[in-house]
Amino acid sequence: MNAAAPVDPRDWIRDIPDFPKPGIVFKDITPLLGNPEAFGAVIDRLAEQFAGRAIDTIAAAEARGFIFGAPLALRLNAGFVPIRKPGKLPYATIALEYQLEYGTDRLEVHTDAFGPGRRVLLLDDVLATGGTMRACRDLVQQTGADVVACAFVIELTFLEGRSRLAPSEVFSLLAF
Ligand code: AMP
Repeated sequence: MNAAAPVDPRDWIRDIPDFPKPGIVFKDITPLLGNPEAFGAVIDRLAEQFAGRAIDTIAAAEARGFIFGAPLALRLNAGFVPIRKPGKLPYATIALEYQLEYGTDRLEVHTDAFGPGRRVLLLDDVLATGGTMRACRDLVQQTGADVVACAFVIELTFLEGRSRLAPSEVFSLLAF
């Protein structure tokens, strides 16, 4: 008897049309998170991709970046740093404001989260326009740390977010 085919994480991502607003097709990762084989395969592949790259810290923005960032950090024997919305972090913070379609948003990180020369891998669930990741990257670089790469589980290639992240290395597991 043949062994069961390995699970394909792509099959566990669900499209939700017109969420959170008309015209957006939302990539819902909750089916993937609910399946330990699919979730585990994502973490395995990200770990394979960055094994041997001298990474001290994984940094990720709330909320969905945390879900993938924490297990990947443990797998790579790296620390984990949360990048958060304003007012959530208890210690002294450094902040970066960035432009949204309408208005601005702000991300914060603890002032002692990274030291100069720390090698940081940034991670998020979805690369759409690249605005969120660019803000995270710029914030981490402001602290004096080195960004090794910006990694994503999902890339929406038609939005060309990758080009907003130049000259950083960009890696995505699943392109749509
Ligand atoms: P952006 O800054 O445009 O690259 O948007 C990235 C952030 O918004 C990520 O943290 C994603 O979690 C979320 N996001 C943007 N577009 C989508 C989408 N189509 N499906 C799921 N999440 C999305």
